[in-house]
Amino acid sequence: MKIPAYFFLIVCSIVIPLSMVVAQPITVIHADGSLHTDLKTEIFQNGQFVAIEDFADIFNAAVHYDSVRNIFTVQIDKKKLIFAPLNPFLLVNNRCYQLPTVTKFHRKKIYLPLKYFFNIINREFQGKINFDPAHGTLSILQPIYSKQPNIKDIDIEQKINGTLITVTTSKNFNEADISLRARHRWLYLDIYGGIIDSLQFYAEYKQGIVARIVPSQISNELAQIGFRLRDEIVEKNFYLQSPRKIIVSVKTKQDVSDEINRVIEQEKLKWHIDKIVIDPGHGGRDPGAIGPRGTYEKNVVLGIAKYLRDYLVNNLGVEVLMTRDSDKFIELKERTAFANRNQAKLFISIHANSNPHKSLRGVSTYFLGPDKSDEAREVAQFENSVIKYENKSNYSDMTNEQFILSAGAQTMYTKESEYLAGIIQETIMENCGLQNRGVRQANFYVLWGASMPNVLIETAFISNKKEEKLLRTKSFQKKLAYSIFVSIKKFKEKYESMF
Ligand SMILES: [Zn+2]
Repeated sequence: MKIPAYFFLIVCSIVIPLSMVVAQPITVIHADGSLHTDLKTEIFQNGQFVAIEDFADIFNAAVHYDSVRNIFTVQIDKKKLIFAPLNPFLLVNNRCYQLPTVTKFHRKKIYLPLKYFFNIINREFQGKINFDPAHGTLSILQPIYSKQPNIKDIDIEQKINGTLITVTTSKNFNEADISLRARHRWLYLDIYGGIIDSLQFYAEYKQGIVARIVPSQISNELAQIGFRLRDEIVEKNFYLQSPRKIIVSVKTKQDVSDEINRVIEQEKLKWHIDKIVIDPGHGGRDPGAIGPRGTYEKNVVLGIAKYLRDYLVNNLGVEVLMTRDSDKFIELKERTAFANRNQAKLFISIHANSNPHKSLRGVSTYFLGPDKSDEAREVAQFENSVIKYENKSNYSDMTNEQFILSAGAQTMYTKESEYLAGIIQETIMENCGLQNRGVRQANFYVLWGASMPNVLIETAFISNKKEEKLLRTKSFQKKLAYSIFVSIKKFKEKYESMF
């Protein structure tokens, strides 16, 4: 079968996009003899084309689009060029030229047929611009740049931690166009492709780090904004908030030290103990330890917790949250999670101790750590055993080994927790006349993951007849609560004064 010739034409024009044809760029020779820009060109079906935006760029001229009239204008030297997409006419200062083909619109740029366009340019800019088609060169014979400045505004703003300079432009810039240098109390912002009206932006300031703005048009291609500074700067930076907004930040020594002081103040506030979580152990279907006379640990500790809450709220002006304030079951993990969610600054878990040896008595205060003694391990094992009341919990990762592995996270507040435990232990002992069983560390699940100083108090032995009797009384519960309150108050004062 014979394939018609036009078939190839169609196929070729589809499979080989015309943009793959590499068009030779035009070498631009500037008035000072430098060659540092090339003018890109594109090959379309009917010859070599040049984008008006790229051409205007040589002179730092911006192309404006008038969407109402659908025309593009660009001012170069004293000439105003007007053209429209897909239109063969070109106006230069109201002189009308007709191109042999309509303008192209490609990748958001307007393209003009190169040869014809440069004929017009040679004629209109005689003695100033000369295009040599034989050598593919465009010579700028005398310095020309658009009379339209593209730097529109310079704004200086004194901020709490430095000074911000905002330069607004009407042309898009990218970071490579900008350089920032500081030298001898001068800050220079160089904008390649920038056009600035030096008179408009010269300014003097009576206050602030910038004493004077001295703008200058260094060359066709380079606008420089000089800032005379009152003080040495220790930090300078710039970024483009948008292609038309250059932000420069400068900091003096003073700014930097003010900033550090502010951060320290904020840190202090962070350590301010203004919210405390009290965690009465057990609750609901978990009674905790049960005394010989049938006293439930869950009820005793809730009583102590409520008294403690009242002491704290009324005398310390802190916010107090309770993991439970009624006979409710709460999973162990949820207790510290609650404190973390509420960004509490202390976590106080209250329990009563129990042992098969009914003669054992006294108070002990615990902070989280690997078990160091058999007694500590036993106590932690009992308190941890209540997870049998939980449905789907997984505490398998809360082992002593894991504790050591995750030491960073778990031991962040160990020092503070140990210190608080020490004060509590001593105060309860003295106030309540209880035997001292010491401050200990043990692996209590309920303390895992607390991101604040945290302790667990084994107030007295509910398994000991005498102490069970004491624990049942409101006066003893109040005494315990008061002792814990006094300890927290002491700790708070000490802790906050450290910062
Ligand atoms: Zn308990």
